[in-house]
Amino acid sequence: MKPLPQHVCELTRKGLQWARTGHPWVYRDDLASAQGAHGDVVLVACQGKVLGTAFLSVRSKISLRWIERSAEPAEPDPAFWRARIERAHARRQALALRTNAYRVVHDAADGIPGLVVDRYGPVAVVQTTIAGTERLLPFLGEELGGLVGAGAVIARNDLLVREKEGLEREVRVLSGAEPGPAAEAGRGKPWRVWVHEDGPGGRVLFHVDPRSGQKTGAYLDQRENRWRAAELARGRFLDAFSHGGLFALHAAKRCSEAVAIDSSEAALELCEEAAARNGIGNLRCERANVFDRLKEACEKGERFDTVVLDPPAFAKSRAEVPAAARGYRELNRRAMEILSPGGVLVTCSCSYNLGEPQFLDVLRTAAADARSSFTVLERRGQASDHPVLLSHPESAYLKCVVLRKE
Ligand code: SAH
Repeated sequence: MKPLPQHVCELTRKGLQWARTGHPWVYRDDLASAQGAHGDVVLVACQGKVLGTAFLSVRSKISLRWIERSAEPAEPDPAFWRARIERAHARRQALALRTNAYRVVHDAADGIPGLVVDRYGPVAVVQTTIAGTERLLPFLGEELGGLVGAGAVIARNDLLVREKEGLEREVRVLSGAEPGPAAEAGRGKPWRVWVHEDGPGGRVLFHVDPRSGQKTGAYLDQRENRWRAAELARGRFLDAFSHGGLFALHAAKRCSEAVAIDSSEAALELCEEAAARNGIGNLRCERANVFDRLKEACEKGERFDTVVLDPPAFAKSRAEVPAAARGYRELNRRAMEILSPGGVLVTCSCSYNLGEPQFLDVLRTAAADARSSFTVLERRGQASDHPVLLSHPESAYLKCVVLRKE
């Protein structure tokens, strides 16, 4: 075994108390002393007692991210990381029977802080958000494909948060060739891959572009919510903020008609291609601003039996919460108005800064505005491959509330 890291970071007593909560981060103010360079693996200690290992950042307010908590931690060598990735992948085995598009590693909840790995069939996409995991890129380029069964590995490192760690934003192929016949790609063209999800209405194929699509190519975090929405769907179905229309694609077969609305032309192109590929003839895509389109629907007296609202995060910071709440209120009020009696509203918020109790408050106000009464059928969260650490409440960001109009 290789020697353990030589550099030691000492926690203050307050830092020790915080560490005992199990939170995966240690803030700068909670360090009594720090040795080591940006991105190093360091030993964490308090008053000379070893507590474990962590990645060190000298740039961010989050100085340490725990790798292992133990008085005798292991050296985080390639075998160590391989084991963590294998464990995370094994946890997705049941899910992998229903889809080949899933998150393999979800940051600290899978024991690898600062790393996300998404798999889209033959392509694995990695995002490293801290200097510590940035150093794992050569290892990931060499081994990740073999570990998760993908032929190519792409680093989708164009995230803004990387700047907090002083990391460049870039997208590059770490290993492998353009995926074979499963992909329809050409030089300079998007690297598109067909993947599938087996929902309650059967298999849905959809196109992802891991190099330049939204997120790493798809909104994997909504998968089980899409499946649930499809189970509840009937009549006229509205997929508002549809992106590639995955809610609608899963629900369409159970509905008389499905309408997908998004402001992005590229997203609607994906939706139209997928509708054709899946032989779905009752799905219509509309390019519009959802706020305007819902207002118009209300004015015209248009009715839907199932409505999905899946807007982007309106509150990216705490300061934005009041304005965001107004946006959610307006949207939900309109959606509630156009819903026919007995209809189902699946309404989501991915703003971490707006917690579930606040979101429910917004929905109550919206229902009062719409002069309607609703039953809460379900309160849901993010997909099972985006696990939440109990001790890391910040990692529970997605709310999905299912309401029935009385
Ligand atoms: N429901 C999707 C994910 C939606 S992400 C899925 O399950 O895959 C949010 C989408 O909202 C993005 O595709 C974005 O292009 C779109 N969007 C953002 N603001 C919008 C607006 N005002 N009107 C319409 N679409 C909008």
